[in-house]
Amino acid sequence: MVCSRYEYSQTLMGTTVSLTLLEPNEAIAHTVFQIIKMLEDKLTVNRLFSEVMLINLAAGKHPVTVSQPIFSLIEQAQKVSLYFNSCFNFAIGPLVKLWKIGFQGYQVPSAELIKQQLLLIDPKNVELDTNTHSVFLKKTGMEIDLGAIAKGYIADIVKLVLLENQVYQGIINLGGNVLTLGECLTEQSGYWNIGLRKPFSISDELSGVIKVKNKSVVTSGIYERFFMQKNKLYHHIFNPKTGYPLDNELESVTIISDSSLEGDIYSTVFYGWGIEKSKAYLRKNQNLSAIFLLKNKTIALINPDNFSFQKTDTQYTIKID
Ligand code: AMP
Ligand code: MG
Repeated sequence: MVCSRYEYSQTLMGTTVSLTLLEPNEAIAHTVFQIIKMLEDKLTVNRLFSEVMLINLAAGKHPVTVSQPIFSLIEQAQKVSLYFNSCFNFAIGPLVKLWKIGFQGYQVPSAELIKQQLLLIDPKNVELDTNTHSVFLKKTGMEIDLGAIAKGYIADIVKLVLLENQVYQGIINLGGNVLTLGECLTEQSGYWNIGLRKPFSISDELSGVIKVKNKSVVTSGIYERFFMQKNKLYHHIFNPKTGYPLDNELESVTIISDSSLEGDIYSTVFYGWGIEKSKAYLRKNQNLSAIFLLKNKTIALINPDNFSFQKTDTQYTIKID
């Protein structure tokens, strides 16, 4: 039995990215970090230039041709934004930039400014041309923001790279987006243990441990990026109808799935739907599993065939559906 783990980490995408392997492999870790950096450089909207920023800077002016993979991700993001009747909206950029939650200068903007930005976030106003791979934002001031899916997309690519390099066991952790490869040979059960953060804990406490094999575990939560003002919490997932952070019964949604992109999409979509609508969807889609942490301190486990969960926080009560 293999007994050691080798962890490599770097600060990328504004978070600590880590790769855990069961055998030392400095070279693959180096390749993985380079690929993540390259993809971050294409997708980020937190710098002046990237492929996505070129689209944003040309809003209202002209279409911009992007590389095939980025075009295909944008195509998926638009489909998700239009298909699900949810809060998911990849044209949310103007609101994200106005509130600046998680960045310097965060604020509760005036109702007037929010109203103005709401005119710039219609995902139908993003024109895609599949022949030229070009993207056109029809109104000046529009901005694409792929923050809700970029990490999932990148994690899936990293997995492919690892498999191509004959690395069949490990964990890619992109700060909240975790993708496990194969089985954990250091555990008799073969499960990888993934910690589920206790909401708002300042000392990295856990609500529980999720046990999975060869699955992605993605969490969207209101405690990830937020600020408090006058006793009210403002977090980073917006309701595109109101322009304010979504307000519902949930603290977080964790999706356990095969693909990390899928997990990232559904974690945001389900956050917007709330628990009842999400549960109805999950009943019809047994390949997806979810863990909801509710503000009333309940943990709801849905479709628990694909994982097991060990609660570590006595504040919460578990409900299995
Ligand atoms: P996640 O943590 O995966 O739910 O993604 C949250 C990030 O997605 C935010 O930091 C924003 O960059 C972006 N975002 C915020 N609100 C929305 C929304 N309603 N739809 C899509 N992306 C959003
Ligand atoms: Mg997401």
